[in-house]
Amino acid sequence: MQPVKNLLGQLGRQFSIPMFIAKTGKQLILPFYHTISNNYLPHIAHLYRYNNEAEFERDLDLMLKHFEPITLQELIDSEGNGAYFSKPSMHLSFDDGLRECSEIIAPILLRKGIPATFFVNSGFVDNRGLLYRFKVSLIMDKIQKTEISNGELAAIKALMPEGARKPNNTDAIKKLLGKLGYEHQFVINQIADVFELDFGVFLRNQKPYMTKTQIRQLAQSGFTIGAHSIDHPMYYKLDIVEQLEQTTESLHYVQEVFQVPYRVFAFPFTDHRVSARFFDELYNQGEPLVDLSFGTAGLKTDLNAKHLQRIPMDGGKLNAEQIIKTAYTASLVQQTLGINEVKRH
Ligand SMILES: [Zn+2]
Repeated sequence: MQPVKNLLGQLGRQFSIPMFIAKTGKQLILPFYHTISNNYLPHIAHLYRYNNEAEFERDLDLMLKHFEPITLQELIDSEGNGAYFSKPSMHLSFDDGLRECSEIIAPILLRKGIPATFFVNSGFVDNRGLLYRFKVSLIMDKIQKTEISNGELAAIKALMPEGARKPNNTDAIKKLLGKLGYEHQFVINQIADVFELDFGVFLRNQKPYMTKTQIRQLAQSGFTIGAHSIDHPMYYKLDIVEQLEQTTESLHYVQEVFQVPYRVFAFPFTDHRVSARFFDELYNQGEPLVDLSFGTAGLKTDLNAKHLQRIPMDGGKLNAEQIIKTAYTASLVQQTLGINEVKRH
């Protein structure tokens, strides 16, 4: 891998963003974040790195140098075709409906005059529920700060199914927690009980999510609101009935509660391995469920022109210019190899 990495690094240094746009023919980018905060957020800190306010403003300024911000309506009007725009363009979005969207991100965007879309989970608005990955982060936070007692270790071992490897120390428990998915929420809740973690109390005190009122205010300020499923499952693990239910219910919620005239949906986690059949239902010829939908595969294109991939901006220490250049480099390599289009079965 090292020679490939070096090559990618060299391309990134030698090519400017305008050169990348010219080479790839891709002048529409869709960067997305989750949260921005100067504070330590225990429900996220153990999952991915997020930017502070100064880093976010620096990112925005770097992006504004090369890309014109466009509204969701302009994106809908373009039907996902980047060539529709006369200049290199971007539309920003923010997933998971976190409180910082309304309290930190929106004021910065308003000051800079940048439109954006906020994708919310209908089951978590008003702090009525907590994403299972946030629960995992909270457990990790707890065991990092306090030593695990023998009693707690024994209780966790007792939760493991017959034949499963039993964790013996903090690291093993962390490893186990990292593997638990949407389908293991019962176990996650049981492990939380062992450590006397009460997610209800956390939701009431921390208020990690936006309220309906806050989301309404975003819409009134000119921002756009989209659906992000009910409770953030990994889509490819659901059957098609559940996939459609998660999608239509969250779309209905956004339309009903916030009275928006458009319908947009962003897949939780990833659209990777989601079937062609699901997309056929989503974009049903006579009656499509959405105006546009969004994935997280960088600058890839999809078989369906209205399903647009976005560039994940959280997670590492790179600034926006470096992340966007990396996405363009990957796109250039994928185009050369003929693998730039997402395949669906
Ligand atoms: Zn999400």
